[in-house]
Amino acid sequence: MKYIDGFKDPAAAKALAANIRELAERLPEGGTAKIMEVCGSHTMAIARHALRDLLPENIDLTSGPGCPVCVTDSGYVDAAIELAGRNNVIVATFGDMLRVPGGDGPKGRRSLTTARAEGAAIKVCYSPAMALDAAEANPDKEVVFLAIGFETTAAPIAATLDDAVNCGIGNFSLLTAFKLVPPALEALSSDPEIKVDAFLCPAHVSAIIGANAYEPFVEAHRKPCVIAGFEPLDILFGVEKILEQLVDGKTFVDNQYARVVKPEGNTVAQKIIERYFEPADAVWRGIGAIPASGMAMRPEFSAFNAEKKLGVEIKAGKPDPRCRCGDVLKGKIKPDQCAMFGKACAPTHPVGPCMVSSEGACAAFFKYARK
Ligand code: SF4
Repeated sequence: MKYIDGFKDPAAAKALAANIRELAERLPEGGTAKIMEVCGSHTMAIARHALRDLLPENIDLTSGPGCPVCVTDSGYVDAAIELAGRNNVIVATFGDMLRVPGGDGPKGRRSLTTARAEGAAIKVCYSPAMALDAAEANPDKEVVFLAIGFETTAAPIAATLDDAVNCGIGNFSLLTAFKLVPPALEALSSDPEIKVDAFLCPAHVSAIIGANAYEPFVEAHRKPCVIAGFEPLDILFGVEKILEQLVDGKTFVDNQYARVVKPEGNTVAQKIIERYFEPADAVWRGIGAIPASGMAMRPEFSAFNAEKKLGVEIKAGKPDPRCRCGDVLKGKIKPDQCAMFGKACAPTHPVGPCMVSSEGACAAFFKYARK
């Protein structure tokens, strides 16, 4: 008997698609809806399962700033490369960061991969705990972990920092560039050039911050927010629920991933994040500075803060001006509307982070949706 995964059931997908088409015909105000997914895993799932092809033309499912590597500013990459070039430093990082281009500099545009080819000590880690292990194994070196990502990643990094503090591991530090999702929704919705009607909210991030975390945003901006899982039916169901709100003229937070996301989120994870990090302004690649959209290490833990401990400065980066990752991340263009897409920029020779990351919109388009 052929096994059909319940979350990929074709009959259920067809029924959902039919309902979405019926709702799309009843949309008010011009009859279109621009729905932004703010999650790299959603971006990949939408492309991999060709979900856009199931939607009617008046429903625009567009990618937002949900890929952690993509939103990391080139100035941060430059600082990481500078650290990796020091004799006494090992830079530990998730693999996605390796090929992200930094800014233009005296040696041209470099990445951690080029730095490693020049002899820099760079260790690829599958978890922050691996970086802490590397610190224990190399007591004569400072191991700096590249602490990027959203609320989801901040929790295990905070737990690893907790281990370092409790175990007195003094040669471990973080170069932080965390990002927070709700302030990004605020910034996108406050920009009159970005006309998003509703948000498909991330699954992993929501598991940490909880569904209630979107209430202030919905209250202020009156845009539907629906939390959805990663399976094809999860996403189609999320789109259906968004359209129901738009058709009915309602706006509320709808948690359609309740099998994982609680209203209050993961309070254990929230506590450990708050113990070590505090809200801070953050620079998003291609978007710019967004107030209180990041997290910095609390001053009492400066001994684990690479910027303070090693005197490295994260300056404004100079990304390739031809790359339109910023417009892609803001939902202003689709990846294939960038003149470089598939020609000067491809996964084998990426120009911007959106083509590097396994969760990047350009990489997803190139792999699954290229015409
Ligand atoms: S196709 Fe390449 S150059 Fe264009 S926006 Fe995407 S990553 Fe940047």
